[in-house]
Amino acid sequence: KKVLFVFGTRPEAIKMAPVIIAFKASSHFETKVCITAQHREMLDQVLNFFDIIPDYDLDLMQENQNLYNLTGRVLNALKTPLEDYKPHLVFVHGDTTTTMAASLAAFYAGSKVGHIEAGLRTFNKLAPFPEEMNRQITGRLADFHFAPTGISKANLRAENIDEDTIFVTGNSVIDALHTTVESLNKQAPKFTGPLLDSTKKNILITGHRRENLNGGLRRTCEVLKTIALNRTDVNLIYPVHLNPKVQKVVYEVLGGISNVFLIAPLSYPDFVWIMYNSYLIITDSGGVQEEAPGLGKPVLVTRETTERPEAVEAGTVLLVGTDPKKMMTAILNLLDDTNLYNKMSQAHNPYGDGKTAQRILKIIKERL
Ligand code: UDP
Repeated sequence: KKVLFVFGTRPEAIKMAPVIIAFKASSHFETKVCITAQHREMLDQVLNFFDIIPDYDLDLMQENQNLYNLTGRVLNALKTPLEDYKPHLVFVHGDTTTTMAASLAAFYAGSKVGHIEAGLRTFNKLAPFPEEMNRQITGRLADFHFAPTGISKANLRAENIDEDTIFVTGNSVIDALHTTVESLNKQAPKFTGPLLDSTKKNILITGHRRENLNGGLRRTCEVLKTIALNRTDVNLIYPVHLNPKVQKVVYEVLGGISNVFLIAPLSYPDFVWIMYNSYLIITDSGGVQEEAPGLGKPVLVTRETTERPEAVEAGTVLLVGTDPKKMMTAILNLLDDTNLYNKMSQAHNPYGDGKTAQRILKIIKERL
């Protein structure tokens, strides 16, 4: 049987990689990979690390792209690969515009759709930010739903998705994390330097979510600036997302401060290594909320809501939003209250055991 993996951004690539590797190693399937390259550079870094060479590169990223033209171009560009290759199953992942448009294209082509990381929900449409709608539309189109947890399965059941098509598999982010930590144990990454000063509490930061570009990111950066200026015992390390709107705010507020390291986005293994060696992580990223519990690192999430409540329940993730007072208190508590810090870092990781890819392979072998 023929399967096609379609994805377009860094987080999709990281989480698809273990599944692609498992399918390529299986003699049951012919496996091809198609990238839309909705985000280019950060995606290529991941493909290099996992040694994945796309069979189709649609190269769709454009300057000033918007949701209308991106959705249209993904749909159009997928027609030829789908009609030439005629996959029995198209795998999509998560909640991007590529995910939603590729599911629809696969449906038009008569291929089945397998949705990895299915069933996450905020139940908040938050227009015009597309993620929640992308998840829900993909949920309607998919034939196989690979839900990371029981909570995501319950979300799908509440939308009347047929129980027989939902499989709780864990999240393949843990598969990717385990492989990467293993490779780092064999060989540490080459970069070193002021980034990981072991005499300091290193705080790792990422922030790029569009819903935070309306002020949330600036408020976060202002709080971080106050922390940096008042606490000589911390270093802030911030790999800044390539979106120019993110870059502008971050460099404006946090540029030129001696214990703030604003750096380019890191390759996946470098980022994992920094997570592993950091004291605390502050982020609005989805994937990082799942990885950090796997590494025993407390996470403060600068969002009002999350589609990943499991780690909040487990106690490693705290939703702090972007209210400066709340954020400041949470950071200071974690810097100074050892009991709280230990409690958060020792909480259990709810996202699986790193065997998600093998589970998905087995399910598809039996049912496709
Ligand atoms: N990541 C990375 N380099 C960085 C920052 C993050 O490789 O400089 C990884 C991180 O480990 C996680 C993924 O990128 O697996 C998260 O991507 P992002 O925050 O862009 O998207 P989201 O998870 O919010 O969809």
